[in-house]
Amino acid sequence: MASPSVFTACESAGNSSEEINWDEIGFGIIPTDSMYLMKCPTEEDTFSDGSLVPYGNLELTPSAGILNYGQGVFEGLKANRTEDGRILLFRPEENGRRMKTGADRMCMPSPSVEQFVNAVKQTVLANKRWVPPLGKGSLYIRPLLMGTGSVLGLTPAPEYTLLVYATPVKTYHKGPLNLVIKDKLYRAISGSGGTGRIKSVVNYSPAYKALKEARAEGFSDILYLDAATGKFIEELSSCNVFLVKGNAISTPTAEGNILPGITRKSIIEIAIDLGYEVMERAISVEELMEADEVFCTGTAVGVNPVLSITYNNTRAEYKAGAEAVSQKLCQTLVGIQTGQVEDARAWTLQIE
Ligand SMILES: *Cc1c(COP(=O)(O)O)cnc(C)c1O
Repeated sequence: MASPSVFTACESAGNSSEEINWDEIGFGIIPTDSMYLMKCPTEEDTFSDGSLVPYGNLELTPSAGILNYGQGVFEGLKANRTEDGRILLFRPEENGRRMKTGADRMCMPSPSVEQFVNAVKQTVLANKRWVPPLGKGSLYIRPLLMGTGSVLGLTPAPEYTLLVYATPVKTYHKGPLNLVIKDKLYRAISGSGGTGRIKSVVNYSPAYKALKEARAEGFSDILYLDAATGKFIEELSSCNVFLVKGNAISTPTAEGNILPGITRKSIIEIAIDLGYEVMERAISVEELMEADEVFCTGTAVGVNPVLSITYNNTRAEYKAGAEAVSQKLCQTLVGIQTGQVEDARAWTLQIE
């Protein structure tokens, strides 16, 4: 597919001859101006000072750990513009901490949380013209930590690189999701000691086959069950799941193979503030099918209502729309992220 044309010529622009047409951005990669690189050299475990370079292709040795054995972890976060044009990051230090946990599991050194946040800030500042105005979208930031040293044997790479790049994304209104649960289909990295709880690059492409099948059958995503018993729900391919029953909101405990989402964690606190009873616990499929409402959370989707879940030819339908609990939670979260709702917990970091 050809990349979307997002530029329109603008005669009167000052130092830039191009103006961005915000209504034409989608959810694909639009090349931006700069990216940030920081290396941890051979036999050391601390990252040296990084630098901004023009956005572009990387040069890698064919025997890089990331290419051959998937030694890598990534993060995802967004920068949003406020109504008066300031730029806010949302809990970036949480992403830095999570990258560190993932790096430990993958036998990689990681930048300090401070280095991580600084790298993200630098990347956003260098690409600030790509942060959409309020209501038009966000700048999605993708930090990627990878083994860039050369390895042939099965061993951690001798050199690591943190790369941070960014691309503008539209406000994501997917509409309510239709999910499917399939017996004997687990997120491929399940099992004790697996990597399901970290954002390792090795976790995602194994899901493509099942996702492709589910999408061909008209579903939006798969809701995975735990591999040990096949009775309890875990999460979707890249977001966490919640259910609402009366005044109670429940979500599976973020342990085992469940990725500890930062949106998940924030929604739990927001829901408590709004007066709901929130529980982190094991949730069976049967219970899920009886819920009033189901929604999922993640940086990319925000808070997204689920319309239906199909399991063994039974289809359960849920409440969505303006009156839904998920809608209230979503408005509060987005309000904090864009400076429209008071940020009592200092979750946002203003960088301009
Ligand atoms: C990234 C991710 C999430 C959501 O995490 P956020 O921090 O909320 O973006 C949930 N599940 C999986 C498998 C993920 O990769």
